[in-house]
Amino acid sequence: MTLAGHYWITIERDRCRSWQQPWKCGACIDACEQGVFARDEKGRVYVANEIACVGCKICMEQGCPNSCIYVRPATPESLSRGIWTTQTIEEIHRKAQTGEYEIRGYGTMGNIPHFDGLVVVPSQLASRPPKDKYREKFRMEVTIGERTCAKPIKLNYPFVFAAMSYGAISREGKMALAVAAAKLGILANTGEGGMFPGEAILAHGYENEESFRKGVRRWNPGGYLAVQYSTGRWGVSMDYLQAGDAIEIKIGQGAKPGMGGHLLGKKVTEDIAMIRGLPPGTDALSPCRHYDIIDQKDLKKKVEILRDLTNYEKPIMIKMGPSLPYEDTYIAAEAGVDAISIDGMVGGTGASPEVVTQNAGIPTIACIRQAAKALKDMGLKGKVKLIALGGIRDGADAFKAIALGADAVGFGAAAEIALGCRGCMSCHKGACHYGLATQEARFRACLNVEAASQRLVNFVRACAEELKILAMLSGHDRLDTISADDLRAIDLNTAAMTGVKLAGLEKVFPQSWEGFDD
Ligand code: SF4
Ligand code: SF4
Repeated sequence: MTLAGHYWITIERDRCRSWQQPWKCGACIDACEQGVFARDEKGRVYVANEIACVGCKICMEQGCPNSCIYVRPATPESLSRGIWTTQTIEEIHRKAQTGEYEIRGYGTMGNIPHFDGLVVVPSQLASRPPKDKYREKFRMEVTIGERTCAKPIKLNYPFVFAAMSYGAISREGKMALAVAAAKLGILANTGEGGMFPGEAILAHGYENEESFRKGVRRWNPGGYLAVQYSTGRWGVSMDYLQAGDAIEIKIGQGAKPGMGGHLLGKKVTEDIAMIRGLPPGTDALSPCRHYDIIDQKDLKKKVEILRDLTNYEKPIMIKMGPSLPYEDTYIAAEAGVDAISIDGMVGGTGASPEVVTQNAGIPTIACIRQAAKALKDMGLKGKVKLIALGGIRDGADAFKAIALGADAVGFGAAAEIALGCRGCMSCHKGACHYGLATQEARFRACLNVEAASQRLVNFVRACAEELKILAMLSGHDRLDTISADDLRAIDLNTAAMTGVKLAGLEKVFPQSWEGFDD
């Protein structure tokens, strides 16, 4: 079911090739993954299924050679029909006919409370004076594992790239992420699909094995790669675990907490099948939990084993979906990890049952403060790093997440968009027209690794500047002095979920947040 809204789609018939020469063109039919266009019995293209449009405009950009398609937002039908919109009715009919639930890519749609309900308090007379962005320095490096590892990770920015597997994403997409991490000096992540040959070398800034052997780095300053240790154990071996700069134990993710990864068989090519240890064309369905991590003791033991395997040199991280952030963080920190990523409800995915993405989990903003409080209560705030994931779009979201208690944030969907994604929500179909969520050669050829990685680098640097602007205008010259007192909530939902003071009232609301100190 389409959840993105409603769009009017118009084909300018006077200029459409199929209306001049029936059965010609039809590029929009191929471009649209949602099946919006069809041909009539005379071979002319028409808008057959307007309600399925998600507004990505791929038909305009990559479809129509004559630029004769227009896609415009329309007034949401929910304003007139309440909950029984045409979409709801169509979806009930679809289920009644097929007996199947919907699977789609991307994250939660709809009105989920997010960072937009928070504003930054600028410095004036009553607070600390602002810092001057143009004349004073701002420090934003973050180190992971400095207490426990011989080789900690030193991020140049408080940013990481969220895990995206080779399989869900093309090799070119994965390469662009690794190269961008190298250019920025931040952390990329294999995701749960294992590592393609050369991924770590690229993330470290070397073009290939030969330049690595010669010590000639192409992209400076060089970044890092976390290798994910997930429930499916795809591609996990001793070599794999030792090749990364950190190991991330994946417990869950925001888009489908409580469920394992889901890679449809059509994306499991020979190459991906070999890396994952599967027959080609088979659905790769990861278990929903680690069968050898049942309780707290098992987790602690697992962390010790992985530390041992990496010779106590590399950070051990954990990634969790949004459930009970205080308790989950407490357990993970007690197990001895160096960093905890919590992926909020709006976190994205390549494929998930829609009922899960829309209905299971806790909004990102409601997770961060509780998780930070757990670390504070354990005396580990700032020592075990908290990484907020799930719908981070810009430097403002990053500032707000850090003010709520995170040490760093992760870009997932935003990184994909910077690489070229248009948000068509069809990643699971494997026909991404921008060469990202696909394994088909004709689509992969659309993604230029060097250009895409530079777009991502530009995006991250712009976000870093935005973060710096907001931090300095509120009187900070480093990250760890930023706190929830630098924020105000502008609606009751956000105030109640985050414990941030309500703007105008200058008090926390409700009172149960009083005395909450992270
Ligand atoms: S879903 Fe995208 S490609 Fe299809 S009609 Fe709508 S805007 Fe065009
Ligand atoms: S990655 Fe590709 S398939 Fe997925 S939403 Fe973006 S444009 Fe669509």
